[in-house]
Order: sequence, then C-alpha cells, then structure tokens
Amino acid sequence: MSDLQPDIPPKGKLFIVSAPSGAGKTTLCNALRKRFPALAYSVSHTTRAPRKNETDGQDYFFISKERFEEKIKQGKWAEWAQVHGNYYGTCAAQLRELLAAGRHILLDIDVAGATQIKALFPLSIAVFIMPPSIEDLEQRLRSRGTDSDEEIRKRIAHAHREIAGRDFYDHVVVNDRLEDAIEALSGLVRKYTAGKGDGCRH
Ligand code: ADP
Ligand code: 5GP
Repeated sequence: MSDLQPDIPPKGKLFIVSAPSGAGKTTLCNALRKRFPALAYSVSHTTRAPRKNETDGQDYFFISKERFEEKIKQGKWAEWAQVHGNYYGTCAAQLRELLAAGRHILLDIDVAGATQIKALFPLSIAVFIMPPSIEDLEQRLRSRGTDSDEEIRKRIAHAHREIAGRDFYDHVVVNDRLEDAIEALSGLVRKYTAGKGDGCRH
C-alpha cells in the first residue's frame, strides 16, 4: 500500500461509487463508462462466481479464495473487503499504473473499501447510490434474476447497514428514474474533471 504514494495527490480524479447491491450501480457505472470513455474503470478482483453475463477481466478478475488470501499476506491490495461472504479487492499495482498515467478513475467498491480509499486519497470523490426504497431494491434484485432467495435476503440485510453509512459520502444520488440518475452522476464527473477555473476545489 505504501508504494501507492498516497502523500502525492493524484493528477486525475478518483471517483468512488458505492451502493447497496441491486441499487443499480453496475448499470450506472456502465452508462458512465460509455459517456466518458476517458474515465478508467478499475476492474476489481473477487472470489465470487461469475454471473451469466459477466466476462473475466472486464467485469471482474475472478480468482480463488486461496489466491486472494495469499495476496492479502503479500500486501497486494490497495483495499479489500469481505462482502456477502466473498472477497473483493482493488489491485494496488493496477491502481498505481492508472494513477501514474494521470487518469481519472472510477472505483465501484463497497463502503468498507470506500473508507480505505478515502483514507489513502482524501481528495477522492465518494458517491453513494441510493435505491428509492428497500422494496424497490428487493424488486430489482429479484428482477435481475442472478441471486438466490438466500442471497437476496443477505443483500437486503446488508443494505440497511450500508445505507446507515451514507453520511460518509460526498454525494448521494437516488437511482429512481435511471436517466435522471445517469444525468446526476454525469454532472458530478463533469464538475470535478472540468479543470482549473471551474470552482472545483478537489
Ligand atoms: P448493482 O450493480 O447495484 O447490484 P444492477 O446495476 O445490477 O445493480 O441493477 C440491479 C437491477 O435493477 C438490474 O436488473 C437493473 O437493470 C435494474 N435497474 C437499475 N437501475 C434501475 C432503475 N433506475 N429503475 C429500475 N430498474 C433499474
Ligand atoms: P457484486 O457481487 O454485486 O458485483 O458486488 C457486491 C459488492 O462488492 C458491491 O457493493 C460492490 O461495490 C462491491 N465491490 C466490488 N468490487 C469491490 C472491490 O474491489 N472492493 C470492495 N471493497 N468492494 C467491491
């Protein structure tokens, strides 16, 4: 972690996006990636199984629990957390490379990971995506059709804890109408990446 040189502010902006599972974060991040091709997406590593529509190296790097734990011991993660019984982490080397290239970076990570990245990079911009309600969240998880009832139950229980931590974030965006949420997020990216003279203090 120390070789990430957190004392040197990165040239690009670091955007952290967190949300309870099912709130629409992947949908929103994909829309942002399309709108802002210059925004580098940090592909996380995880020990969970790939979903039907997921591609290794694109959505996640899917690795074994043993390999993940080995990398914890070696200090290879910029941040990592256990979410819903699986490990998730941001590779320090990958993040270092993007930072060195002066890229604006999008990190889709959970609340525990966001806390770790904010501690390393206090000027990162943390955005929390809220579902309109817990009922909507459950409905979205069901309609996505990728998780078992037991998995959905775990995700809803965890959602209450994540939502309770939203005050930590610099911005909260409610993903009610998808287009409005994409617009709100795009507005934040434009605001913080507009360069000098736009009143942006980050
Ligand atoms: P997350 O990455 O936060 O777990 P997803 O992006 O996979 O969530 O979205 C969960 C489900 O909700 C998907 O089926 C997605 O198409 C749907 N969804 C996302 N945003 C909205 C929205 N604003 N209104 C209705 N459904 C949505
Ligand atoms: P999912 O399994 O639904 O893709 O993601 C579950 C949760 O893990 C989400 O809250 C997502 O933001 C989080 N997550 C994904 N990648 C990372 C990561 O690299 N680090 C951390 N801390 N959380 C992650």
